[in-house]
This record gives sequence, C-alpha cells and structure tokens, in this order.
Amino acid sequence: MATPDIIQERSDAVRVVSRSDVLVVGGGPAGQAAAIAARRLGASVTLVERYPYLGGLASGGMVLVLDDMTNGNEITVTGICMEMIERMARLGACVYPPPEDRCQSEAMWRKWARWGVHDFRSTSKPLPIVMAAAFDPDGWKRVSNDMIVEAGVGLRLHSWFAKAVVEDGAIAGIVCETKEGRQALLANIVIDTTGDLDVAASAGAKFTEGGYMITTVFRLGNVDTDAAERFRFESPTEYAALDRQAKRVIGGSWDMWWLKTPLPGVVWCNCPHMTGLDGLKVADQTKADIEGRRRIYALVDFVRAQLPGFKNCYVVDVAPQLGVRQSRLLEGEYVVTKDDVNDRVWFPDTVARGRDYYTPYRAMLPRNIERLIVAGRHYSATESAQKLSREIPPCMSMGQSAGVAAVLALDGDVALRKVHPKAICSKVRGQGGDPGDVPSANAKILEAAA
Ligand SMILES: Cc1cc2nc3c(=O)[nH]c(=O)nc-3n(C[C@H](O)[C@H](O)[C@H](O)COP(=O)(O)OP(=O)(O)OC[C@H]3O[C@@H](n4cnc5c(N)ncnc54)[C@H](O)[C@@H]3O)c2cc1C
Repeated sequence: MATPDIIQERSDAVRVVSRSDVLVVGGGPAGQAAAIAARRLGASVTLVERYPYLGGLASGGMVLVLDDMTNGNEITVTGICMEMIERMARLGACVYPPPEDRCQSEAMWRKWARWGVHDFRSTSKPLPIVMAAAFDPDGWKRVSNDMIVEAGVGLRLHSWFAKAVVEDGAIAGIVCETKEGRQALLANIVIDTTGDLDVAASAGAKFTEGGYMITTVFRLGNVDTDAAERFRFESPTEYAALDRQAKRVIGGSWDMWWLKTPLPGVVWCNCPHMTGLDGLKVADQTKADIEGRRRIYALVDFVRAQLPGFKNCYVVDVAPQLGVRQSRLLEGEYVVTKDDVNDRVWFPDTVARGRDYYTPYRAMLPRNIERLIVAGRHYSATESAQKLSREIPPCMSMGQSAGVAAVLALDGDVALRKVHPKAICSKVRGQGGDPGDVPSANAKILEAAA
C-alpha cells in the first residue's frame, strides 16, 4: 500500500487560557524587554516561551557578552538592558569594566582582553576597552524571573507557539502546544519576539529567509586562566601557533575562541562556526548538535594535551539552545540595509538603537497584518544589515520600544502604524531608555525618510 506524503490534521476546538491587552511570544532578550516595558505602562501582559527559562540565546544559547551598546563616546543602549546588567552585577553574575578602564592602552588590554569587552570592530591595536558586560547564564535567568514577576507579567513557560489566529487581516491571538494539549491565548496586540519570526510568518506577513553560521556554544571548567593568559602575553609566537591549530580543530571561530566568565575557572567558547545549515530545518538542527559536539570534544583533547592552562579542563555544558544567528527576516514597512547600518543613518522615525546605528519604527511593522509588531533579531533588515545589528542590547532596545508602542496603540485606540514614533521615544525615555531619537554627532540624517 502506498503511504501518503501529506496527512490531513484534525482541527480541534482549543481552550482559551489567557486574554490580555498585550501578548508577547518569545521570552528572549527582546521579548523580556517588550513584556516589562508594556506592563510597566499599565497594560495586562502575557509572555509565552517554549523553554523552561527566560533569556533565549542570552541564557539558553549561552551568548555571554552584551556588546554593541556604545559608540565610544556614550553608552547608546540603556533602559531595561542596563537594568539587567546592574542587577546581575549586584548578584556577582556580571562583570564589566568601570569607566576609568574604558580606554585604549596596553595595560587595560592585558587586564580585560579575555572578558570580551573590547571594541570588536576597531582596527587599531590594542583594541579599545569599552562598555560591554560578561555575564553568567543562570544569573540572567534568575534576574529575568525577578523582573518579570515584579512587573506582574503573566508568564507561561513550556508553551510552544504553533499557529497565529488571524481575523480580517489582524492578529487576534495564538495557539500553543503544551503538555496539556493545544491552548489558545488571545490579545489586542501581539508582539513577535521569537527570533525566527514564527508568529508573523504564520500570520501571513511577508518575510525573506536569511542564513548565517550556526554554533553549539559551550563552556569549559577547571581552566587555569592566569596560566593561559600569561602564556599568551609572554610567549606570543608559540601561543599564536597553538591557537591557530586549536581553531583548525574546532573548525572556525572568532579571534578569541575562549573568554572568561564571572565563574572562576569557567570559560565560554563562542565556536565552532558551522556553515551551510538552515536554523529552521530539523535535519540541519540535528546535524549541528552531532557535528558541534564532535568538534568540541576534539578541541578538548587537543587543548588538554597542548595548551598551557587547559590541562585539566572539562566540558561544563553545551548550550541547550542551538546558536542560530539568523533565519527569517521580516519584510516590513522599511527594510534596513547594510549601508544604513554602516553609514549610521538616522531616521525621523527612529525608535531604537545599537552601537552607532538606528532602527526606524517601520522596520518593526509588518506590511499587511494589523495588531502585530516584531522586535529582535528577525526585524526588517537585509541579511547583511542584520549580521551587523543583531546583538543582544539592540534587540532589547527594539523590544522595549515595541512594548511601549503596543500600549500607546491601545491607549489611543489606533492602529500600531498610526502611533507616533516621537511618542514612543518619549515613553521609552521615561523608562530610562535611549531610543535614539536624538542623533549622535556622527549620524547621517535622512530628512526625507519619515
Ligand atoms: C552563537 C551566537 C553568538 C552570539 N554572540 C553575541 C555576543 O557575543 N553578544 C551579543 O550581544 N549578541 C550575540 N549574538 C546575537 C544575540 O544572541 C541574538 O541576536 C539575540 O539574543 C536575539 O535576541 P532575540 O530576543 O531577538 O531572539 P532570541 O534570543 O533567539 O530569543 C527568542 C526567544 O523566543 C523563543 N521562541 C522561539 N520560537 C518559539 C516558539 N515557537 N514558541 C515559543 N517560544 C519561542 C526562544 O526560545 C527564545 O527564548 C550571538 C548569537 C549567536 C547565535
């Protein structure tokens, strides 16, 4: 008997478990910021996350440095992102250079090089030390829980978004898969912060499919970091040769394949770089884990035998969440380009910012679906622009503005696209954020773009 390629799924009645003003789908950095910002303005907010913790790639993906948040002169991302940093630091879960250490000098380079808090786009040596923060993944989860509970956000973990509910061209809610079966959550406004544009794509929004290398990030414990750093500075030629070999074994990495964390002797490794894999395809996601672990343990064998400081190291953990940097990208009201990012183009409807670049409100709005807004790494940008503007702080900046925009739309009883960007910026500033409405001296002002 021939087996069919497609089966017809039964369509069941689904119980409604939540009704709120704002529904945020995806509890990563952008989603957390969106939920907290909206709730602090008085809206009822539900936050849905598929995994058993908050933080997305920051915690589950073990992406352990918050960077891209200063243009050298000023800290450009503040708000909820900075609150997270300060709260984690108070718990000993975050380390960042004090203002007096943020400069370009050999002494500061030696002190901070292995924390990953340098200006990674600079071409002059030694790399300048800047405001950036190295943190502990469980510290992130703990502080996120505290902030979400304090704000009064209705949190639903273990809930996997399955399908958007769309009525007359507007999103009305979502359906999730859970251990209790399918559940429906309804809201007046939905914010898609899944990173993969799951909600907007399901709702019928236009998008493109991008791709970038994928990484199974991991941590090593029992590393003698003092010995390893000494070797690097005292024997630069031998170090460079071994470091090259280590990178060959792991198969692709940034310049520094290991960085210190707030836990003594525990280092995080933002590698391997694996190309040609699609972060949305089950076969490729599976392949990434198999291949990633193979390379990780090959590296461990190599460094134990060869690299000073790593003789007794062991794998603490491989990030539970696969390191997908880019997948679907919204094709919104405006698509940010690489030139926009590189030329520091400032838009009249700027509502968020990263290092020295700006995000227009239109890049968070789908063209054809109402009551839906997106924030985070899947925002409306070209592939090459997103690669330069996808770090955690700018995603949080976008999230905070999306949360504020949702509440302004509800309060004013207007469509999201009718909310005035200046009103969003004013509220974000009231929450301690910097939405980029005042361009820096080096910005390129685009008067005609509103
Ligand atoms: C390997 C790697 C290294 C990086 N290095 C750095 C770095 O050093 N510094 C830096 O600042 N940035 C770095 N980045 C970029 C940064 O981590 C991401 O761009 C950022 O975390 C994006 O935040 P987000 O909230 O948009 O998405 P995500 O962090 O991806 O969060 C999305 C959230 O949505 C949830 N979700 C997704 N789908 C569903 C669903 N169907 N149902 C329910 N929930 C869902 C996810 O579980 C997750 O919690 C790196 C990224 C990677 C992959």
